[in-house]
Amino acid sequence: MTATTRPHMAPTCEPAWSLVCELCGRAYPAFAACTGCPDCARAGRAGVLEVSGCLPRRGDPGALTLGEGRTPLVEAPAIARRLGLARLHFKIEGTNPTGSYKDRYVAATLNAILPFGVRRIVVSSTGNLGVAAVAYAAAAGLPCLFLAAAGLPGAALIQAQSHGATVVMTDPVRRHVVFEHAALHRGWFPIGLRMPRRISNPFGVEGYRGIAEEVLADLGQPPDAVLFPSARGNGLFGAWLGFRDRPGTRPRMIACQPDTANSLEASLRGGLDVPAELPPSDSVAFSTRETTADVMALRAIRASGGTAVSASDAEILAAQADLARAGLFVEPSSALPLACLPRLIASGALRRDAAVVCVLTASGVRWAEHLPGLPPVPRIDPTAEALDRFLSEAGLAD
Ligand SMILES: [Zn+2]
Repeated sequence: MTATTRPHMAPTCEPAWSLVCELCGRAYPAFAACTGCPDCARAGRAGVLEVSGCLPRRGDPGALTLGEGRTPLVEAPAIARRLGLARLHFKIEGTNPTGSYKDRYVAATLNAILPFGVRRIVVSSTGNLGVAAVAYAAAAGLPCLFLAAAGLPGAALIQAQSHGATVVMTDPVRRHVVFEHAALHRGWFPIGLRMPRRISNPFGVEGYRGIAEEVLADLGQPPDAVLFPSARGNGLFGAWLGFRDRPGTRPRMIACQPDTANSLEASLRGGLDVPAELPPSDSVAFSTRETTADVMALRAIRASGGTAVSASDAEILAAQADLARAGLFVEPSSALPLACLPRLIASGALRRDAAVVCVLTASGVRWAEHLPGLPPVPRIDPTAEALDRFLSEAGLAD
């Protein structure tokens, strides 16, 4: 048996955290959980475990880190003026070590499970999470199996292979079947998926608390609303934990999804307690193409008085281009908050005097091949005359 199937295996040192079931309330000493609350499972229920206490993190002695977190918060007055908003900030998560906020998730997960003797990890990903898992596994000296969703950017595969992972491509919609098999029956510790799938990683979302802590520190006051690109909504939920646990600092959490993969929006509209399962669909926002969402994300949105909105592919690409022209190169999914802002303001769901933070979850560099056609780059001879001719033709001559 392995650590993933021996939940009460003794850790190599005494962890400063424990686990609590959000459903039945039972508290457990720290263990490397991957299938939720054992008591609830025996009763045929799926109880999500939450961490109580603090996981080791960057800055703690012995913690595994590649320097994740402490990302910049940048004010965007020109875009705010255009939208008629009082204050707009972007949280730039693309400056994390592997280019996305998933580094926070993976660092938190590995720091929780490494003391339990976990020997190998498996990740199923559309790109960002996979690369983060592979990089941190390399730093920890762990083998990593990367189940790549077909269609993900080639740059992600190259990076994953460079870090020494075993990479295999599989179906983007049905990939959870092989992921769960590897995790439940083959001894690979699962980095990723939470409820309502059968795999629950209670640790990764703890890493997103840092987003809330940093926003509060940098702004000097709580924002009124935080807009988060959301697939299953783990990032939104984790950031919410950071706000929730600081009295008086609770912004409205707003999930931003593609209009073809808007489980959270559909669930709120339908008054559902369990997120809707939608048919598989396509979107330029590849990282956020999920058929369902996390029940905890849905609860976080409701608890914060937030909402969920969606944008079309055309709106997402226009927002991505807007950000690029403002100096911020993000992947299409990360442009979702800006794409959704006009609708939120027009509908009155967001007041114009609100202080808004949009989380830009990932850099666009890895995703450049997913951008629609830009004009070919012209080539000129290396002469002064050639440059003058080019500037003249481009209308840039004095
Ligand atoms: Zn339970």
